[in-house]
Amino acid sequence: MKLTIGHLCPDLMNLYGDRGNIICLVRRCQWRGIDVDVQEVSLSSNLELRTSNLLFMGGGQDRQQKIVAEDFKKGRGEEIREFIEKGGVGLFICGAYQLMGKFYRPAEGPDLEGLGVFDIETYHFGKEKPRCIGNVVVDWQGKTLVGFENHGGRTYLGERVKPLGTVVRGHGNNSEDGTEGAVYKNAFGTYLHGALLPKNPHFADYLIELALKNKYGPGVKLDTLDDTLEWQAHNAVLRKLGLK
Ligand code: GLN
Repeated sequence: MKLTIGHLCPDLMNLYGDRGNIICLVRRCQWRGIDVDVQEVSLSSNLELRTSNLLFMGGGQDRQQKIVAEDFKKGRGEEIREFIEKGGVGLFICGAYQLMGKFYRPAEGPDLEGLGVFDIETYHFGKEKPRCIGNVVVDWQGKTLVGFENHGGRTYLGERVKPLGTVVRGHGNNSEDGTEGAVYKNAFGTYLHGALLPKNPHFADYLIELALKNKYGPGVKLDTLDDTLEWQAHNAVLRKLGLK
């Protein structure tokens, strides 16, 4: 089997170790003898996304998001929308997550138009509301996800989207309604940096298996890996927050 990962805007959108998610996906495939190819899709690239099985984009400061949002209007945005509408698997972290929504309203300057893949709206209230910073624990399908967040924007979910999970510790989408992230078809948005996947091997495998099932059919089943170190790192965060 072979997995092709499309890494969107790696040079612009990469905060708090987000690139670690790519390394994690690659290793977890290689450890299982699954071929894996990472296509770096920067702004100038004319690579076609339909050759990818899994799309990833990391977080970014408002300045980088502005550049990416402008570029998405030139065609790349439509390609990403089509990929997701067809059931393609995608993971979008923080600033990328915000740009997958309807719009991101920065503290200053005009709205950044999003792709509208997620029925969400994000507002940065400037000095009115503090940044959402710190360790995060999320309940995802009855299991925990651990990570780190640092965002000024606060995201509100509409009707046509589900949250990724509920906040156990931290701020999540908006520090008000207890939701974190968003899910639409096989697209996942989250505020969790860290990087997210190395400390959450169950979620990494969920994404890999979903993408391989899309390509090879429902019979795909991933071999179990020895995740002792990964769970030690995961549980260390839970202990630090008094949750274990
Ligand atoms: N610039 C956005 C915000 O502040 C996203 C930041 C990020 O990706 N960590 O909310």
